[in-house]
Amino acid sequence: MRQADGDGAAVSERDQVVLYVRQLTEPYDHTEPYWITSGRPAAHKARHPSLLDQLRHTWRATVGDDAGSGIAASKPPVTIGALDVELRITAASADWVSRVLELPLRDTAEGNIRLLGGRLSDVAAAGLAEAIESWWRWARVETQWDGRPRSLPDPCPYCAQRMLRVAWDVSAAWCSDCGAAWGADEVGVLGAMLDEQRVLRSTHR
Ligand SMILES: [Zn+2]
Repeated sequence: MRQADGDGAAVSERDQVVLYVRQLTEPYDHTEPYWITSGRPAAHKARHPSLLDQLRHTWRATVGDDAGSGIAASKPPVTIGALDVELRITAASADWVSRVLELPLRDTAEGNIRLLGGRLSDVAAAGLAEAIESWWRWARVETQWDGRPRSLPDPCPYCAQRMLRVAWDVSAAWCSDCGAAWGADEVGVLGAMLDEQRVLRSTHR
């Protein structure tokens, strides 16, 4: 959700997008909170590959040498999402670089995304921060580095397709049909919208 309450918010929003660019393209340290059996919160720090590399690891694990093994056979429906997201991010970042900003393409999606991260204040880049934020959310849901995403049975509030996916830790959600995405602070809003839809459907029965 966009903050529009002064310059301070705008700066921190920019920092947040720069962080998204970094996590999409570079290995990063991730601190994960978890609850130990006593019920006290704790945290452990782990080094993760970039989100794009996590997506590649995820879908490649079900093709090539592993295909045909029992493990691969149990995975494909889930990992299509990782390939789908990698292709979407690759295409969208290239589109932003060459069509919108009319700049020469870099060799990789990482190169294009880093270039875009340096262009956030360009006049022509309206909507770029939101686009990068969406890519991060898509990747966050479909990476299976930490855990598998869940599919929701509900129709998407925007396109009505039943293609909603939520990250294993509910830190993000997206619609794999229209690309709408929700961040950690918005998944609750999505939940409320879905509840409302359920009530509407049940009263129209
Ligand atoms: Zn949708």
